[in-house]
Amino acid sequence: MTVKKEVLFEGKAKRVSATDDPELLWVEYLDQATALNGKRKETIAGKGTLNLQISALLFQEITAAGVPTHYVDTPDQGSMIVRKAKMLPLEVVLRNYASGHFETKFHVKHLLSFKPAIHEYYYKSDALDDPFINNDQIQALGIADAATLAKVRALTDQVNDFLTARFAKAGIKLVDFKLEFGTLADGSLVLADELSPDNFRLVDDATGDSLDKDVFRKHAGELQPVYREVLRRLQASK
Ligand code: 5GP
Repeated sequence: MTVKKEVLFEGKAKRVSATDDPELLWVEYLDQATALNGKRKETIAGKGTLNLQISALLFQEITAAGVPTHYVDTPDQGSMIVRKAKMLPLEVVLRNYASGHFETKFHVKHLLSFKPAIHEYYYKSDALDDPFINNDQIQALGIADAATLAKVRALTDQVNDFLTARFAKAGIKLVDFKLEFGTLADGSLVLADELSPDNFRLVDDATGDSLDKDVFRKHAGELQPVYREVLRRLQASK
């Protein structure tokens, strides 16, 4: 059994601790929601547990489907054991339909469909406010080489294929999402971070309602019942 040790750092929605195994980390999902890159922050009771359960369910299924991930185990209702990875400082955004920043930037029709899907990168830097970055810039800054970027792209497509079909089974359209990747000690690339409605845009197939953090971002209602509904549907459509 893995034992939790000292806290290493606390992010916007997660707390990461060392464990008695140097290869493993203990990640607690917190009851916090942030928007505007952390400038707006609220406590939402039960959010951590819901996100953890959604994330664990999807990590288990996607790992079983052959995607390499950092996921190891879920020791309790609010924590995940993951393999330690050196994180790429990139937010990888994939868009199947127009929404969010893409829609406001290019003034296109809401939920315009993209085939093939659009891949975008943002440089993870709070000081710079996570700026958009392209492939050449990523390589010039030494963030990742061309081979790593090709692997990131292929894995992101694989994740998209899996998640799009998985959410469709639950009556949900996967509009867009953000992923983060890291490399393990052996140099292999894995999907890391979390797989939850904090990072996805999800739309109810039947009603068109948002089933993700946009509810919080747009002050459109209570987040907790929405996340509970996403978990319920994923569990019911296993
Ligand atoms: P947009 O660029 O339209 O704001 O976001 C595109 C997708 O990436 C959305 O699904 C959104 O949830 C996710 N995303 C973009 N930036 C962040 C971020 O800083 N944190 C989180 N949790 N998700 C993000």
